Amino acid sequence: MSHSIAVYPGSFDPVTYGHLDLIERGAKLFERLIVAVVSNPGKSPLFTLEERLAMLREAVKGIEGDFIIDSFDGLLVHYMRMNHTHVILRGLRAVSDFEYEFELALTNRRMAQDIETIFMAPSEEHIFLRATLVKEISRLGGDVSAFVPPLVERRLMERRQQKIKLPV
Ligand code: ADP
Repeated sequence: MSHSIAVYPGSFDPVTYGHLDLIERGAKLFERLIVAVVSNPGKSPLFTLEERLAMLREAVKGIEGDFIIDSFDGLLVHYMRMNHTHVILRGLRAVSDFEYEFELALTNRRMAQDIETIFMAPSEEHIFLRATLVKEISRLGGDVSAFVPPLVERRLMERRQQKIKLPV
C-alpha cells in the first residue's frame, strides 16, 4: 500500500527554522502533511498549546504545499489510527538524536505494525538547532534571530521580560 499523507509530530515549543525546514521538505515529498502539535509534552512547555499553534500557523505562511496544523493529546499511534494515517515524519539532527528516535520508532511500530517512521535530515545549517537551546539562549538575553522567525523571537523576548518583572 502506498501512502500520500504523513504526520509530523512534535512539541514545537517554539517552532524553529529547523522545524520549518522539515515542514517544507515534507510538504514537497507528501501530498499532504499533518503537522501535529503534542498538547502536553513530557517536558513542561514554555508556551501553551494555543501559543505554540499560533506561532506555527504564522510561521508556515509562505511555505507551499498541502499541509494542515493540528494538535493531539495522548499517544501518537492513537491519533494516527483516528485519522487513518500510517506514516510518521521525524527529523534527525546529529547522531545524538539517533538512539532516542530509533527507540521511539520501534516502540511505535510495536504498538502499531502498520505505522512506519520516516527520517529526514535538515539543511546543514540547522543540524544543531533545537528548541531547548534556543529557549536557553533567549532566557540569558542572547540573540536568537538566526534560529527562529521574527514573530517567535518577539514572543520569546516578551516571555523573558514577563519573567524579569515577576517579584522574587
Ligand atoms: P525539539 O527537539 O527542537 O525540542 P520537537 O520535540 O518539537 O523539537 O521535535 C519535533 C521533531 O522535529 C523531531 O523529530 C525533531 O527531531 C525534529 N527537529 C527539531 N529541530 C530540528 C532540526 N533543527 N532539524 C531537523 N529536525 C528537527
